[in-house]
Amino acid sequence: MIRHRDIEQLQRLSQAPGNTLTVYLDVDQAKPANRKRGFETQLKDLLKQLIAQHPGDEELMATAQEVEDIVKRVEPNGKTLVLFRHRRLGFTFRNVLKLSLPPAAFWGRGAVLRPLVEVLDEHERYAVVLVDSQRARLCTVWLGEIEEHKDMIAFVPPRPDSPSSDKLRSQSRMERHHDESVSAHVKTVARELSRLVDELEVDRLVLGGNGELANALARALPKRLQGRLVEILPIPVSASHEEILQRTKEVQERLERVAELEVVRDLLREVRKGGRAVAGLPATLDAVNAKPIWKLVYVGGLSLEGQECSQCHGLFTMAEERCPQCGNTLHAVDKLLDRLSQKVLEGGGTVEVVRGPAAETLRQVGDIAAILRG
Ligand SMILES: [Zn+2]
Repeated sequence: MIRHRDIEQLQRLSQAPGNTLTVYLDVDQAKPANRKRGFETQLKDLLKQLIAQHPGDEELMATAQEVEDIVKRVEPNGKTLVLFRHRRLGFTFRNVLKLSLPPAAFWGRGAVLRPLVEVLDEHERYAVVLVDSQRARLCTVWLGEIEEHKDMIAFVPPRPDSPSSDKLRSQSRMERHHDESVSAHVKTVARELSRLVDELEVDRLVLGGNGELANALARALPKRLQGRLVEILPIPVSASHEEILQRTKEVQERLERVAELEVVRDLLREVRKGGRAVAGLPATLDAVNAKPIWKLVYVGGLSLEGQECSQCHGLFTMAEERCPQCGNTLHAVDKLLDRLSQKVLEGGGTVEVVRGPAAETLRQVGDIAAILRG
């Protein structure tokens, strides 16, 4: 699983001298063309095109050869291979994702992280904890994958039912003992959970199992975990992985749509009062060229073309004939959105892709917008 700290590490590549080769490769084994390592042929084609765009670049040729060798050892146990190789640093990052991203290869300063950042942004990591008086199960869900981390079995003495009068005193002692064991169990689970939440970079928490125990666990959580708790769901402690995945997915989709809509509504308010946000491509480019922005927001599936100045690296629409900033010549960039996102990320900003109702709302002012720093 890819974590946010991987992205931070990858961002540092743009500060190192030398170029990074970025590859997003379709390795999906459901596609016949990819079977029998057919994806290696696709990689060769991608690299050939890239080399053609950078004639005589020997570092690229050497890096491309290294990447071909690395890919020969990749197990295609997902849909997209993500690979970054920085030859001078001897650095390689690779990961196979369970979702499809458009195949592409890039050569330049820094890794092209936009597709990956979109994935991290769109898919928060959930922890699902199912608890009853006997046990607790902890799973994390990310990118449609579930991982079970721990089956915490507690040895709780059974609670006696139907007490008979002559045994009443010892009975109530047993009950008390049972209740104490349960509350100790809940505390153990809460403690274990707060440790794992940090280690696994969990964004959200869902509890389930026995309703009473789940509520007790919610109350026993430290404050910072309570802030990540989204719901207590009636999922049985014995639920299958498929069931847990499905229920988590429903929660996830609901929350993401709400959060996106909130970002877009704030943005719209700022745009309309001429505050800390601008909308539309020309204004967004101006903002990004001028200084680091806080957040780039755009409608999912957007594709843009534009131009880049070879001198000051400003980004512009096709309407400009010369660089408005320094007067130098401009060259066309077909993946303008990638360049733009990269610039925003390098400046310490974030990127938010919106879909559904949030996308419709954003379109009232444009397909793309920038929230400026305060
Ligand atoms: Zn310029």
